[in-house]
Amino acid sequence: MFKTIPCYSVTTVLASSVALGIEESIDPVEQFKASTLQKVDGLRCAVHGKPPIVDFHGLTLRDVRISMRCCCRELSARANQAIAKPLSRI
Ligand SMILES: [Zn+2]
Repeated sequence: MFKTIPCYSVTTVLASSVALGIEESIDPVEQFKASTLQKVDGLRCAVHGKPPIVDFHGLTLRDVRISMRCCCRELSARANQAIAKPLSRI
């Protein structure tokens, strides 16, 4: 079991771990969130100009779920596609 701290942001965790040089101790759930957010980073609806809003639920990798709110179907399809792809630079 790894410890999870509720309600802290991915950005904060990543920033502090980089500063302290402790990347390997990042919670795998946080890693998952960070890589998922990276995949949709910069993605915007071509019609409405809005980014998808991604939420994560669950405290362990086994029960973590992504929920996305998009302005329309087209963005939703593109965001799903982006998330389904593996990160190219791993
Ligand atoms: Zn849209």
